[in-house]
Amino acid sequence: MASLILNLLNPRNDIRLTVTFLDVGQGDAIVIRTPTGAAMLVDCGPAWEGDDAGRRTIIPFLRSQAIQKLDALFMTHPDLDHIGGAPSVLRRVLVKRVFAGGDDWNEKKHPILFRILRERRLKLTPLERGKFIETGEGVRLRVLNPGIGKKTTDNEDSLVIRLEYGNSFLLLTGDAGSEAEANILHDGEDLKAQIIKIAHHGSRFGSTERFLKAVHPQAAIILVGKRNRFGHPSPAVLERLDGMHVRVFRTDRDGAITAETDGNVWRIRTMGAKR
Ligand SMILES: [Zn+2]
Repeated sequence: MASLILNLLNPRNDIRLTVTFLDVGQGDAIVIRTPTGAAMLVDCGPAWEGDDAGRRTIIPFLRSQAIQKLDALFMTHPDLDHIGGAPSVLRRVLVKRVFAGGDDWNEKKHPILFRILRERRLKLTPLERGKFIETGEGVRLRVLNPGIGKKTTDNEDSLVIRLEYGNSFLLLTGDAGSEAEANILHDGEDLKAQIIKIAHHGSRFGSTERFLKAVHPQAAIILVGKRNRFGHPSPAVLERLDGMHVRVFRTDRDGAITAETDGNVWRIRTMGAKR
C-alpha cells in the first residue's frame, strides 16, 4: 500500500529529463521535468490585454502533466514577453524558489508581480555566472550569464543556463545578445550543447557565428510568434544555422516542442505542424 501511494505521488520516477518549449506566441516559457519529477519553469510568456500565457497555456500544461508545484521559477530578464504570465503562475501554482537574471527588477514597473511575490513570501534570488543549481539526481543548471558584477542592458543581462544531465546538454539563452555572448566566450565557459534555445526569438542581435560554433548544436529551438512585428527570426540567423547543418524547430510552425533525454541521447517531438 505504501509503495502504491509513493508511486502515485511520484509518477515519473524514471531516468528521463524532459524539457518542453511551450507555444506561447511571441515569448518564452519552458518547462523542465527532472527524472524524479521535480518541475522548473523558465520564463512565463507574454501578457496581453485581459489574458496572458500563464493562464492560457502554462497552467493548463502543468495540470495536464500533473505538476502541482514548481520547485523553481527562473525569470531570465524583466521583459513582458518573458514575465507577463508570471503573476498568473504564482497565483495558481505553488512556487518554491524564484531566480532572476537581469538587474532591472523594479517594483514600480512590475507592481502586480512584486505584490504577489510578497503575498507568497517569495524573494527574487539573483543568479550570475559561476552559480549552479543541482537537483540531487544528476541534473545541474549551470549559470553562464549575467557575468559577475556586469551591468549592461536588460537583454544582455538575461540568464543563460546550461542544463546538464549525464552527457546531454541544452543551452537556454533568454534574450541574450552578442555582447553577452562575447562575455561568455571571453570567460572560456564550456558551452557545448546538443540543443540550443536560440536567443531573443532568433533576433539578429544575437546568435553570432562564433557563439554558435562554440555551442556546436545539432538542434536549435526558436520560440517565436507567428507573423510577429519584429520580423523574428532573422533570415541571417536561420542561414547561419542552416550553414552549420543545425536542425531548426520553431514554435510558430511546430507548436510546443519537447526534448527528452536519458542522459545520453536526446529525442525531440513536436505537437505537429500548425497551419
Ligand atoms: Zn523576448
